[in-house]
Amino acid sequence: MEEYQYVVLKKELFNDFIVRLAGIKKLIAPIAKGYNNFAYEEVRSGEQIALKYIPTILPAKKYFMPRNETLLEFSTGKKSNVEAFIEYESLTLFGLHTCDIAGIQCLNMALSERPKDYNYLARKNFITIIGLECNEYCDEFASCHLVNASFPSGGYDLLFTDAGEYFIVHINTESGEEIVNITEIFNKAESLHLNELTKIRENKRKVFSNEVPIERRHIPELFDRSFRSNVWKEIGERCLSCGNCTNVCPTCYCFDIRDELELDMKHGRRYRVWDSCQLEPFAKVAGGFNFRKERFVRQRHRYYRKFRYPVDKFSRFFCTGCGRCTRTCMANISLKETLNQLVKESEDRVWKRWL
Ligand code: SF4
Ligand code: SF4
Repeated sequence: MEEYQYVVLKKELFNDFIVRLAGIKKLIAPIAKGYNNFAYEEVRSGEQIALKYIPTILPAKKYFMPRNETLLEFSTGKKSNVEAFIEYESLTLFGLHTCDIAGIQCLNMALSERPKDYNYLARKNFITIIGLECNEYCDEFASCHLVNASFPSGGYDLLFTDAGEYFIVHINTESGEEIVNITEIFNKAESLHLNELTKIRENKRKVFSNEVPIERRHIPELFDRSFRSNVWKEIGERCLSCGNCTNVCPTCYCFDIRDELELDMKHGRRYRVWDSCQLEPFAKVAGGFNFRKERFVRQRHRYYRKFRYPVDKFSRFFCTGCGRCTRTCMANISLKETLNQLVKESEDRVWKRWL
């Protein structure tokens, strides 16, 4: 750790910092919505922000890839015209947990691939990310440690770590440094602050441990062995096919493209909306064939898109362990429980072979 990469913000100056930050550009942060629900919304002062919060209902992907986004506008007739759009807004996102930052890293990888998603990439360039490290688990649904998203690993401009009386702030990019310079509210970090940060991380290593009894490097093999598992049939029978789990997932990015014509039948727009692999028509193709017609096949697909396929393509899991899918599921389908069942079933198979 190099001292010059860190600054310190006293807690009593937090509100002043947020007011100054909101003066630079539109500021988004987690706020309490009641009944232990939280959402990312615009804030203007520090008092509005929930510094202790469980993952928001929707992840920060809603700012990188809005649920409903115009791609182009068109007019027909003699003066027909087509105009492509990239809608973006300059934003600062404050308070993202490491799991949500990991989610954005996944989207960055998937949407930078050819064909590149220029709408996403343009919007991303106008967003500044300020993370807030979790020193303990959000709740029992989180499995961030299993997928290596409990400790910071880049993807932010600044990262705040709560050290009691003050925040220790890691400056990771030039944009982050600019905020430190413009707001003029931080103090230089000294060795005692960095020692404190080391202690916090050591303590975290004791608190965070694998939430499922499997080492993360063995997860792809577990999925290689589990394609025909009964677990998929069991959760397929319970799944309601509502699509909530994919909508709230920070790494799901599937969308549908639609055209909409105004009543004058001359003007219209082409837009995209979030879609879900859990909905029955998602995999329907020309001729009416549906290659993921059964719910259990769609559920299995969701898990393989998180834990197996991206490992080959991007060398990482596309699950950040945020727990949103479990929190939102009306059928009580739990990601951790599913993984536990797969591990147990796999161990039972090994024993049976020995007996
Ligand atoms: S939220 Fe639950 S019920 Fe709805 S599609 Fe996902 S797993 Fe099925
Ligand atoms: S699969 Fe579930 S736990 Fe994993 S990132 Fe998506 S919503 Fe979060």
